[in-house]
Parts: sequence; C-alpha cells; structure tokens
Amino acid sequence: MHEVALMQGVVATVQEQAQAAGATKVTQINLTIGAASHFTEEIARQHFETLAAGTVAEEATLHITWLPATYQCFTCLHQFQSAEPLETIICPRCGGVALEIAHRDVCQVDSLEIVRAGQQPQHLDASYETTPRV
Ligand SMILES: [Zn+2]
Repeated sequence: MHEVALMQGVVATVQEQAQAAGATKVTQINLTIGAASHFTEEIARQHFETLAAGTVAEEATLHITWLPATYQCFTCLHQFQSAEPLETIICPRCGGVALEIAHRDVCQVDSLEIVRAGQQPQHLDASYETTPRV
C-alpha cells in the first residue's frame, strides 16, 4: 500500500502546484521515483489514473525516471543496483532471484506542463519532494 500513499502524494502536490499557477489542466508530469521491487511502472500508472480521476491532472501523461535500488542475489549473494521497475529482479551473475536490500525513498515531481484557460500549454519547472499521504 506504500505505492498508493506515494502516488497520493504526487497527485496532491500536482494539484497544489497547478492551483497555485492558475492552471485549468495538467497535461504532462515528470517524476523521479526511487525504484523498489513490486513498484512497477504499470502499478504507478494504475494508481495515478485512479487517484487523479476527476482532478486537473486527470488527462496528464506520466514520465517516470527511476532511481536505482540495491539488490542482493538469494543464491550467490552478489550485490548489484538496478533501476528496472520489475516485479522480479534477476541476478546478473547467476540468474537467481534477488531481494531488494535498499532503495531510495524518493518520489519527486520534477516538472509539469499545464494549460491555463485560453492559453498555450506551459512548462512549469519544479522540484517538489512529495510526501506520502494517506
Ligand atoms: Zn546470483
């Protein structure tokens, strides 16, 4: 459920920034998220769609940059980093299943593209650390 709280933080931050900028619609959202096992791009998008429904960000396209997490192979104990948002991480050395041992708890809105009533889309440079909200 951690993923839901993270995406709730993203949607809340985007709404606040859009409102502060007088936007009527958000069209693009650039995010940086610390990769963690079981938090895939698909899951992020699904949560976002659910949470953003009915808000100014409803039709926004998400662009996600994943920060690498550290994994350790269950079989050969090899440690490595991966930013692949995958359900199951495989050891690059032996092909065994690896467990996440550390990830960066980051979820940041880097920039937005917004539309104000009767105007062309505008790029908003931002760097908002979001806080997970429940
Ligand atoms: Zn291995």
